[in-house]
Amino acid sequence: MKPMCQSCGMPLQLHDEDVRGSQADGQVSNDYCRYCYQNGHFTEPDITFEQMLSKGKTAISQGQGNPLVKSLMKATYPFMLKKCRRWQK
Ligand SMILES: [Zn+2]
Repeated sequence: MKPMCQSCGMPLQLHDEDVRGSQADGQVSNDYCRYCYQNGHFTEPDITFEQMLSKGKTAISQGQGNPLVKSLMKATYPFMLKKCRRWQK
């Protein structure tokens, strides 16, 4: 299983690009992507689970990949997102 962002659920290695976020000390984060986490802070600290869900689905729709794979990803996305550490209470 590839490492994924513990906030939005996207792979930290996306289409061969390293999209890991950054810690407060400038080190790369192995937990979050750069869209969610920069310089030790969440970029959107108040985002709700539902907002993240719709954001993620939009990102999948607009991203690369064939339509079949993308619709499969969108169907499984809510379950993936629920497993992320940020949304576990
Ligand atoms: Zn993320």
